[in-house]
Amino acid sequence: MPRVPSSYPSYAAPCDPGLPEAALKFRLSHSPPLTTPRLLGGINVTAWLYQDRAGVKGIQVNPNTTIEELIRQFGPAATPDAEVGIHSEMRAGEWFRMHGSQYRVLQIFSERIPCPKMCGPMLRAYFPGVPWYYYYDRRSWIAPNGSILKHPAQVLKTVYSL
Ligand SMILES: [Zn+2]
Repeated sequence: MPRVPSSYPSYAAPCDPGLPEAALKFRLSHSPPLTTPRLLGGINVTAWLYQDRAGVKGIQVNPNTTIEELIRQFGPAATPDAEVGIHSEMRAGEWFRMHGSQYRVLQIFSERIPCPKMCGPMLRAYFPGVPWYYYYDRRSWIAPNGSILKHPAQVLKTVYSL
């Protein structure tokens, strides 16, 4: 059983345990499993709890598009600047926006806290009031000298008991 994630805001309702479970299941069911340190570090999985018009709940799981995957699909980017993977929350957000009013998003779990530059503002704009749940917040692991004390792979190994 994955550990209970942190929430934002802190007073949000508890995270549906099915969300981290779905993210872990996604990692384990992939061939090869996405559980090596490299893949724990290079891939972020997000799982969103939603409800359809009939009140039936479901979970949508999305990984980020890794840089390797982008290169495979589109060839090497023209400039190194363009070699940025598409974040998992952006992909999930797009999926829900495409499905318009069919689903209501109830909870957003992401292994890493949505990034402050892109995903955070997108989620606040399109899914206002929906609580976030996460395991890794980079800011919690930065030393005063700016070095990173713990990487996502180490944290995920612990919370998933891998
Ligand atoms: Zn992001």
